[in-house]
Amino acid sequence: MHRDGARKSIWQEEIRKFSSEADLHQLYDVAIVGGGITGVSTALKLQQAGKRCILLEAANIGFGTTGGTTAHLNDFFDTTFKEAINDFGLDNAKLLANAGREAIALIENNIQQFGIGCDFERKTGYLFALDEQQQKQLKDIVEGAAEVGHEMTYVEEIPFPIPFKEAVSIPDQAQFHPVKYIKGLCEAFLGLGGVIIEDCRSESHDEQQNHVILKTSGGEIKAKNVIYATHIPPGMSVLHITNAPYRSYALAFSLKDGKYPEGLGYDLIDPYHYYRVQEIDGQKLLIAGGEDHKTGHEEDTGECFSRLENYVRKYFDVETVYYSWSSQYYEPVDGFPYIGKLPGSDGKIFTATGFRGNGMIFGTISSQILSDLIVTGSSKYEDAFSPSRIKPIAGFADFVKENAVVAYDFIKDKLFAEKINSLTEVKEGEAKVVKYEGESYALYKESNGKVHLVKSTCPHAKCEVRWNSAELSWDCPCHGSRFNVNGKLLTGPTVRDLPRVDTDSEI
Ligand SMILES: Cc1cc2nc3c(=O)[nH]c(=O)nc-3n(C[C@H](O)[C@H](O)[C@H](O)COP(=O)(O)OP(=O)(O)OC[C@H]3O[C@@H](n4cnc5c(N)ncnc54)[C@H](O)[C@@H]3O)c2cc1C
Repeated sequence: MHRDGARKSIWQEEIRKFSSEADLHQLYDVAIVGGGITGVSTALKLQQAGKRCILLEAANIGFGTTGGTTAHLNDFFDTTFKEAINDFGLDNAKLLANAGREAIALIENNIQQFGIGCDFERKTGYLFALDEQQQKQLKDIVEGAAEVGHEMTYVEEIPFPIPFKEAVSIPDQAQFHPVKYIKGLCEAFLGLGGVIIEDCRSESHDEQQNHVILKTSGGEIKAKNVIYATHIPPGMSVLHITNAPYRSYALAFSLKDGKYPEGLGYDLIDPYHYYRVQEIDGQKLLIAGGEDHKTGHEEDTGECFSRLENYVRKYFDVETVYYSWSSQYYEPVDGFPYIGKLPGSDGKIFTATGFRGNGMIFGTISSQILSDLIVTGSSKYEDAFSPSRIKPIAGFADFVKENAVVAYDFIKDKLFAEKINSLTEVKEGEAKVVKYEGESYALYKESNGKVHLVKSTCPHAKCEVRWNSAELSWDCPCHGSRFNVNGKLLTGPTVRDLPRVDTDSEI
């Protein structure tokens, strides 16, 4: 398996294995945990700065959301500049704008310096309002952008066959192939003497006076600093309350009329749809994304694909859908990413999370921020993006309460545990959380009748997992941990599998 889901993304054909000769007994300067865009970019930057780095990945490079993204490179974000000004002040909103520009420049610089072929192209972005409500939103977006010096221009036409009320164009956005890009970064990292260990899960850390000991599935590793670039850090911290996991869905399809829209497109529906074109093996494909929802909060995730496909078929002359996949991202409570010292750490452990749908950018800027923090001790972004900040913005209490109440409900009532008496009630191809003699189990029956049974309580915060039919996974609705049908961990924050149950002996 190359990705944390059962469906194949448009990028994952490019994933390949990396392995280094590793001396696990030496003291590394920095151990970076997580082989997505955040971990790989950060490992390279630190290695370039002269640090001896080791990069650990639980599965393979690109296994997480970086292998399931859509890879638009925007310097405007899901958090609008208007919202940023209102909640964080004009200076911090300008800093946010700067992070976008700086991240795209960092990517371009890496591509040039290391000669990475990753289909990087500059593109114009288009934001379009489909009704009056969205027109008001667009006006706010444009006004906020002007205040931070970001160019957005009203236009009469957009390159998408979607009827719209009003639209703006945004110059100098970009796109690339994310897996080709991080593959190139890994090669550069190895070339500079960096070490990559795949199939190595970090299970816990012990922060000592001068170094950190990481307990991993491959043994203990010592490093002066540790970075959790795991999309959400493992273990339990305030970040699991201030971030909520969401799923988003993407399709890549050919068009009968061959009229592929140039540019990157976004409507302003909540949740919004996003569009871009990618060429794979000489074939142009239009990628459309959307239908986002909180992880574990959609009864039938397969329907999210149907809804997305029905929506795009209304406007585009769809010929063949070649790829359909979904992936996970994290919503921060106050709209800004969390990049810096891990809350609760003495100062040797760092993390980066809360990227919303802009993790190509925030993952990249994390490499600069985290390397500055480790190499020089400070970063211009450290206060604005501090993981320890508690920003009591409007909606903060509801967000936290919702996360906490969800967790509480799932522990207390096991809401979705259905009482059934025998396995025969689960049809082939179906999955259920079932109760048996007071215990809850997650049960999946393959189309050939083979049964997979695991304990259904997520080891992280003891919430009950829910079935994700689109990716054939058990997803935790509380903090986003995900497991395959055999209970094998796909996505943290937990570091443990769901215990497997021998069906012959227990039920
Ligand atoms: C459908 C979708 C579309 C998106 N589109 C865009 C877009 O167009 N533009 C954009 O900017 N952003 C987009 N995003 C967001 C962006 O893709 C993510 O924020 C970004 O990929 C996160 O990268 P990462 O490296 O932080 O995490 P990941 O790519 O998830 O990498 C984390 C890695 O850590 C590993 N790991 C986890 N726990 C451990 C452990 N304990 N030990 C060892 N390894 C571990 C995982 O296996 C994984 O490989 C999108 C997100 C989704 C879901």
